[in-house]
Amino acid sequence: MIQLIRGFKDILPGEVELWQHIEHRAAELLEDYGFREIRIPIMERTELFSRSIGDATDIVEKEMYTFPDRKGELITLRPEATASVVRAYIQHKMHAADPVRKFYTVGPMFRRERPQKGRYRQFYQINAEIFGVASPLADVQLIVLLDTLFERLEVPDVRAHINSLGCPDCRPRYREALVSYLRTVEDVLCADCRRRMTTNPLRVLDCKVPDCRQAMTGAPILADYLCDACRKDFETVKKQLEKLGINYEIDGRLVRGLDYYTRTTFEMQTGALGAQSAVAGGGRYDGLVKMLGGPAIPATGFAVGFDRLAEVCGLSAERFVRKPALFIAALGAPSQEIAFEWICRLGAAGIEAEMDFEDRSLKSQMKRADRLGADYVLMLGEQELSRGVALLRNMRTRDQEEIPIKAIVAGLIHRLQP
Ligand code: ATP
Ligand code: MG
Repeated sequence: MIQLIRGFKDILPGEVELWQHIEHRAAELLEDYGFREIRIPIMERTELFSRSIGDATDIVEKEMYTFPDRKGELITLRPEATASVVRAYIQHKMHAADPVRKFYTVGPMFRRERPQKGRYRQFYQINAEIFGVASPLADVQLIVLLDTLFERLEVPDVRAHINSLGCPDCRPRYREALVSYLRTVEDVLCADCRRRMTTNPLRVLDCKVPDCRQAMTGAPILADYLCDACRKDFETVKKQLEKLGINYEIDGRLVRGLDYYTRTTFEMQTGALGAQSAVAGGGRYDGLVKMLGGPAIPATGFAVGFDRLAEVCGLSAERFVRKPALFIAALGAPSQEIAFEWICRLGAAGIEAEMDFEDRSLKSQMKRADRLGADYVLMLGEQELSRGVALLRNMRTRDQEEIPIKAIVAGLIHRLQP
């Protein structure tokens, strides 16, 4: 038997209803905050990701699914959505009429990481991006939106972790201080981090190896190196979060896995997830639009880990699982034929109706109706047919009544409409 690829998964009925509910609630809230949906392809030219995410990041160095297509052009299954949204924003000149645009998108991402709980090779994200707003209030709005969404989805123990990554003016100074510090702890760092020291020293702060984490407890903190503009910006974020009653924490080591971030970065974490505690991550990426060939337009955004969100969502999937409203137990070929016409017409009218296509015994049909959890069973045998009636049984109360076959579909629609 051919099995799934490692790190990939199926989302089956019974679980998928919760995913549908989450997606629906998220889209609704995003629309209420003025975001509009954008759908982008799941493959792009590899260059788009290597240039935007950064060559010296884990994602580009070792996690991307990249292969040559039949003409030899390198393409990549997207590891994240922001690069594509930025590409679309530039390519369709969406900034021309009004640079301020807000988008969201939902879909699968691909990263070849080590599979474990909360970490898959195909996973799903809900993404939101705001273009054209330099004000830190846009960052605050994103955090508020996430906080509201998680509250509605009953995610327990949510906290926003925030940090400022500074800007091209002040980060180089921090980078220097960090590199000098790293030299003092070099021998305890893992091989990856020793390499990162020269390629991308900020990434060392994000290393998950315990020895590296330990070594970094004495590292200089970015917040101490911010320029006046970045500092003022970060103060505004904090003040507004307080004003809006958002539970937050300053996390001087929060650097995130992608190179394009500047100033405010954040993660939404929950105590309910164990090691993979981040349900969402995001922040400002003011340089990216220009870097990818567009005008100098600031931007900020987030990505929610859909799989992790579904895992910590306090709502049970069972609540959303649909059951047929009606099961028609038809006995004999003539009854079956009529029943078939009825279920087709009921389905078209928005009433989920099922039947058995095999002409089994009444007992086995009733059993199936029970298993499906149908609210009502309509029984139609030769005898009923000759009398021009059918028997409708309420499966909860066990009440039963005869109803005339004439105009029965309209009658059932009237009775069963939710
Ligand atoms: P992490 O530190 O957990 O690896 P990240 O910084 O790589 O996260 P982002 O690229 O910012 O994550 O993606 C945003 C969110 O997507 C994460 O907070 C997480 O919830 C989810 N996510 C990231 N990678 C995976 C994965 N391999 N499987 C499932 N969810 C993921
Ligand atoms: Mg990661």
